[in-house]
Order: sequence, then C-alpha cells, then structure tokens
Amino acid sequence: MPEIHARRRAALAALLHENGVDALLVTDLLNIRYLTGFTGSNAALLLHAAGDAKTLFCTDGRYTTQSESEVPDLERVLDRASARALAVHAAEQGYGRTGFESQHVSVEEHENLKVRFDRVELVRTPGLVEQLRVVKDEVEVAALRAACAAADRALAALIEAGGVRPGRTELEVARDLENRMLEHGSSGISFESIVAAGPNSAIPHHRPTGAELNRGDFVKFDFGATVDGYHSDMTRMVVIGEPADWQREIYDLVHRAQAAGCEAVQPGAVVSEVDAAARSVIADAGYGEQFAHGLGHGVGLEVHEAPSLAAAGVGTLSAGMAVTVEPGVYLAGRGGVRIEDTLVVRDSGPELLTLSTKDLVAV
Ligand code: ZN
Ligand code: ZN
Repeated sequence: MPEIHARRRAALAALLHENGVDALLVTDLLNIRYLTGFTGSNAALLLHAAGDAKTLFCTDGRYTTQSESEVPDLERVLDRASARALAVHAAEQGYGRTGFESQHVSVEEHENLKVRFDRVELVRTPGLVEQLRVVKDEVEVAALRAACAAADRALAALIEAGGVRPGRTELEVARDLENRMLEHGSSGISFESIVAAGPNSAIPHHRPTGAELNRGDFVKFDFGATVDGYHSDMTRMVVIGEPADWQREIYDLVHRAQAAGCEAVQPGAVVSEVDAAARSVIADAGYGEQFAHGLGHGVGLEVHEAPSLAAAGVGTLSAGMAVTVEPGVYLAGRGGVRIEDTLVVRDSGPELLTLSTKDLVAV
C-alpha cells in the first residue's frame, strides 16, 4: 500500500522542517518498515525534507526482488553497508543539517557515520519517527484489529477444545494456544506467551514451565498475535472447576479496576491519571501493594511502545493511540489476576480491539 507510506513520509518531512534539518537518516528497521513497507533485515532510508523526489532507500542484493515489490515508489540503491552508502550520498549531494536516530545508533556506529558525514552536519534527532508512530492511522488500526481477532479466536478455540484441563502442563497449553493463533491468521507470536497456573499466576511475568494444571487453579493467559508486523496483547483468566470465593473476590476487583481504567482512556487524558483511575479501585480495596506494575503501554509495531500508562508516565492521550489497560492483583503463593485489553483512543470513547469475554471463565 504505497500511498499510506507516502503519507507517513510527508508527515515526517513536515517534522524535519519543524526541527530544522534537511534530511533524516533512518536506520531503525521498524521505522523503515513504517515509512516504506520494507520488511527485510538490512536497510537505511535517507528521507529528505523536500520530499520523496530527493529521498533514497538502500538495502542489499539479497533484497533486490523483495524491495522492488515492497518499496516500488522510492529511488533505491543496493549496498550492503546501507547507512554508510546513504551517508556518502548525502555528502556528495551537499546536504546541510542531517538528523540521525541517536537512540538507535551505537557509539561505534556514530563514530563511523561522523567520518562519512564529515562534509555535512550530523545532528541528533531522537524519536522523530516514533513521534508519528504513537498515533496510529487506519491501516495500522486494521492490522491491530486483525491481530487481536486472531488472539481472540485462538483462546476461544483452545477453551472449546478442552485445551485447558488438569494434567496438561503450562508449556503444552502455551504451545497449543500459539498454534491456534497461527491457524487463525497470526504470522507469529507477539511475545513469549504467558501461561501461569495456580500459584504461578501470582507471578506477573511468569514463563511457562512443565508445571501441571490442577483443579481449582487460576490460569492466567497473557499472549498476543501479529498481523502485518502489528502486535496484539491480551490477558484473560480461566479457573479450572468452580471458582473459590477468594478467586471471585479478586477477579471482580480487578475487573472493576480494569473497567475504570478503560473508561479513562479518552483523548486529552493525562496518562498518570488513567493509571490512577484503575489503581485507586484496587488501592481502596486494600490491595494497592499487590498491584506493583504500570497500568498499560502503547502497542503497535512493537508490543511495548509509547505511551506508558503509569504513575510516573508523562503526557496525554490523543485520538488514534493504541494502548493496553492491564491492572492486576497478585497474592504470592496463592494466585493472581490480571485482565488486559488493547484499545484505540477515540473521540467517541475507546474502541475495544480484544473482544474475548471478561466474565470469569470456568472450565
Ligand atoms: Zn500482555
Ligand atoms: Zn501488555
């Protein structure tokens, strides 16, 4: 879809004007994918503030065919040392101030670039592409929606097939869930799936083990699919058998906190206040210390990206941002609950992308 990439590059060109640079050397592969659609493992982009006519894309010979189809709309050079090749080009063309992605470039690479750029002024311009990426366009939202749908369908299929049952290990269940995501349109897993049973569910980022699921266990699923490079992120809880009173109690508490957090996801909302909206529900019930992580994070080409919905987070939400809301209460040695959705900030109220039920599922 070349038009959408051209539109993103035009938006970036405007940012370059604002930041007083003639061009930006883009070396982060996710940023290159965002701006061009290229999905290979080696590339650089020299984006000129004057627009696509002066913008140059570079990859190496392995990607001749792929880059022809993925990046049909930019002038292309083939060179294994892609950033260096573009730096030489900038110098030859007599570019003035040229920004680079200083948050993605090592000290070594910077030294190399400085030499190559010795005829132009190389300036640090961290986070320019990320500034654009934080607000998703509708092509991105469609990919996020598809990734969330793949995860929804996989979990439903797992439960329906009786895949969550005593005697299976966390690892078996995790692999089963991941295979089902692939069957339902995911191109890969978004991050290492969390399947945490019984006391392990009290560990926020538990890694699946050979531990067997038992009757009475809480089982926490935190997992995601990817579609077109975009990630989904969702956490749901299942109880094996009839839920105990304490399980219902903390589940209902987290459920209420999560709803309060989702409701606070509005354009203009201060991110720390969104965190507080959910956190106060849990703190008021006396479990504040058992919720020891931030409320959520942005999600897109990376599973964790800006903005951070946390007490220490800064900034406000804007329409088009995609964020998670994921409060939890973790009772060490017993079990824990987290409920997580991925949502898009909308003027008309948040659009929920993860649609699996948030009623406590008993199997
Ligand atoms: Zn998650
Ligand atoms: Zn998350």
